[in-house]
Amino acid sequence: MKHVAIIGAGPAGLMAAEAALAQGARVDIYDAMPSAGRKFLMAGKSGLNITHSEDEAQFRQRYDAPDARLAAMVEAFGPSEIVKWMAALGIEAHVGSSGRVFPIGMKASPLLRRWLARLGEAGAKLHTRHRWAGWDEAGALTFETMTGRVAVKADAVVLGLGGASWKRLGSDGAWADILAQKGVALEAFAPSNCGFIADWSAKMAAYEGAPVKGVSLSANGQSVRGDFVITKSGIESGAVYPLAAALRRDLAKKRRAILTIDLLPETDEAALTARLAAQHPKDSFSNRLRKAARIDGAKAALLFEVTKGAPPRAAEGLARLIKALPLTLTGTAPMDTAISTSGGVPWEALGDGLMLKALPGVFCAGEMIAWDAPTGGYLLTACLATGRVAGQAAAII
Ligand SMILES: Cc1cc2nc3c(=O)[nH]c(=O)nc-3n(C[C@H](O)[C@H](O)[C@H](O)COP(=O)(O)OP(=O)(O)OC[C@H]3O[C@@H](n4cnc5c(N)ncnc54)[C@H](O)[C@@H]3O)c2cc1C
Repeated sequence: MKHVAIIGAGPAGLMAAEAALAQGARVDIYDAMPSAGRKFLMAGKSGLNITHSEDEAQFRQRYDAPDARLAAMVEAFGPSEIVKWMAALGIEAHVGSSGRVFPIGMKASPLLRRWLARLGEAGAKLHTRHRWAGWDEAGALTFETMTGRVAVKADAVVLGLGGASWKRLGSDGAWADILAQKGVALEAFAPSNCGFIADWSAKMAAYEGAPVKGVSLSANGQSVRGDFVITKSGIESGAVYPLAAALRRDLAKKRRAILTIDLLPETDEAALTARLAAQHPKDSFSNRLRKAARIDGAKAALLFEVTKGAPPRAAEGLARLIKALPLTLTGTAPMDTAISTSGGVPWEALGDGLMLKALPGVFCAGEMIAWDAPTGGYLLTACLATGRVAGQAAAII
C-alpha cells in the first residue's frame, strides 16, 4: 500500500486525499494551521460559490491557463461532478439567480465538516499545526510542530499549499522559497481577483464599507452589471473582480486604468437627460440628483470625487457623466487582501499527473499552480479538479 502525504488541507489538498484514498493509498494530511480549510471557510462566509451552472464548454473558457491540461481536468471533474460530489456528502446544491452554484445554506462549514468526517472514516489522518519546511538530507519531509521538528517518509507527496493572499488563513506563499531552492522556476505571485486603488480624497474615503449597488462597470470593452464596495483607498468586490484581469493589464501598460461606471444602467441617457431637465430649478443639486436619478450617498460622492467637486449642472452633461463616470485607478490593492493570486508553479514545471518534473514523486494542486480565473465558482472548481488528478497520480506512482 502506497503512503501518500498531502500537505495543505484546503480544498485542493482534501480532494487529493480523497482521490488517493480511492486508489487504496494510506493517507496523511498535514497543515500548518490549527484546523483544516480556513480559507475555504472564509470563502463560505458570504456564500460558498463552489461552481457555476452555465454551459460547461463556456465554463471551461473562463480559465486563463497557458496549458490545455486544466480544461481537460475541469471537464473530467467540473460543475456537474461537483454537484454530485456534494450530494454524496448529503449537501444539496442551490443555483443562484446568476447561475452561480452554492451548497444549500450557502456556508462552507457543514460541507467541510462532513467531508473531513468522511476522509477520517476512510482512514486519512489529519495532522494540524504541522508546518512543512522542506526535506532533510535523507529525503524525508520535515515539519515544524509544537514539539519540534518531525520527519516523515512517504512514497509520494501532494502539495496543495494555496496562493499568497490572506496569510492569516494559512496561505502565505512561503512554500515558493522551498521549491525555488529545489530548482523549480516559479512565476511571481500577483493579486488576481483583487481590489484597486483610486487615491480617494478624505471625503470619499469616509464612505469606506459603503456598497454601490446596481451599477454597470466597464473596462477594455468588457462590461459587468452588479455591485461593488468602497474601501478606504479604492474599490473592491462583486462586479470589480470579473474586470480585474483587464484592469491589471491596463495598469501594467499605462500605470493607470480607467473604470467606466454607469450609475444608472437601466435608464438610457436621453431619458435621464429629460428627467434631470424636468426638475424644479430651485431644488438643490443633491435633491435633483436624488429625485431624477436616485443618486445619493456613495454614488453622489463618486460623482463629486471624479469631477473634483464640480459635476456639470446642465442636464445633458450631467446625464452623460452619470452614464459613463470615468474612475481612474492607480494600482491594485495589497496582495494579501486579494480573493486569489496568480503565479506560482508554472505548467512547464509539471509533468503527468501534475508531478513536478524537477522533483519526482512531488505533485501540485490548486491555487499554487499558475492558472487564473474570475470569481463565480471557477476557482474552487479548478482547485478540486486539480486536487483529484494529483491525488490519483500520487497514489499509483
Ligand atoms: C474571502 C474569500 C472568498 C472567496 N470566495 C470564493 C468563492 O466563493 N468561490 C471560489 O471559487 N473561490 C473563492 N475564494 C478562493 C478560494 O477560497 C481559493 O482559491 C481556494 O481556497 C484555494 O484552495 P487551495 O486548496 O489551493 O488552497 P488554500 O485553500 O489556500 O489552502 C492551502 C492550505 O495549505 C496550508 N499551508 C500553506 N503553507 C503550508 C506549509 N508550509 N505547511 C503546511 N501547510 C501549509 C494552509 O494553511 C492552507 O490550509 C475565496 C477566497 C477568499 C479569500
